[in-house]
Amino acid sequence: MDALGYYNGKWGLLDDMTVPMNDRGLYFGDGVYDAAVCVNRIIFTLDEHIDRFFTSAGLLEIEPSCSKEELKTLLRDLIQKVDNHSLLAYWQWTRGTSRRDHTFPPGPANLLITFKPIPVSDIYRKIKLITCEDTRFLHCNIKTLNLIPNVLAAQRAKEQGCKEAVFHRGEIVTEGAHSNVHILKGGVFITHPADNLILRGIARSHLLTACKKLGIPVEERPFTLAELFDADEILVSSTSTMGLGVEAVDNKPAGGKAPELLKKLQDEVFGEFCAATGWKSDPL
Ligand code: PLP
Repeated sequence: MDALGYYNGKWGLLDDMTVPMNDRGLYFGDGVYDAAVCVNRIIFTLDEHIDRFFTSAGLLEIEPSCSKEELKTLLRDLIQKVDNHSLLAYWQWTRGTSRRDHTFPPGPANLLITFKPIPVSDIYRKIKLITCEDTRFLHCNIKTLNLIPNVLAAQRAKEQGCKEAVFHRGEIVTEGAHSNVHILKGGVFITHPADNLILRGIARSHLLTACKKLGIPVEERPFTLAELFDADEILVSSTSTMGLGVEAVDNKPAGGKAPELLKKLQDEVFGEFCAATGWKSDPL
């Protein structure tokens, strides 16, 4: 099968699977999720994604339905059933099944898992961005299912022929609708601190490690929209894209002033991905 769905012990073709109406994910979005890229049946940076998933669940007091090791084993078993060799693994826990009531029902979470084909990202392609006021809540460090502002912002970006929307709170750039946003200026990598206003992206962590390895100085501090427009390069990172360069923001040319430094960073993170997964071809 090309795409698989799993729910609380049952699995099948993704598009044939159903969930109960009383799953709290449906009417409250009461759950957490994580997602990772799989190539050649290897789930890249799985431990980091599982750790973040358990942290998110803990912060929302969602009772795990299994241990970290059990979840990893399940994901690795399920991936064997999928034919495609380049996939996105997605998993979520919702706070159980019960008639709608704000207070928590007793018992463990419902586990939902999907695998769907995605191409390996061309890390060297340039993308266009729009900017968008960040109207989200103050718990963006928790990977919850509540993504309405992110969904709307991503749609606005798509309608304008752009790949991502960059959120800002007033003058301060926070992150993308489904990515982290960083700038290179004067040889320094600048990124919003991993506080409650952004998700601590795993691709972001790998870019920080790459900076350390390459001797690129890092400043984890808030930066402004003016700094974004004036950056030597802008980088947008996520699990599926790793770290893309940017050519325009709000229809104005942006970045493109430190191509060698950008490529050095991209070579490092893409090289790590290829080494871990055995991915050999050029990116699609
Ligand atoms: N920020 C938001 C809001 C996201 O949804 C994502 C990814 O889904 C990221 C940042 C990047 O996180 P990661 O690098 O772990 O994919």
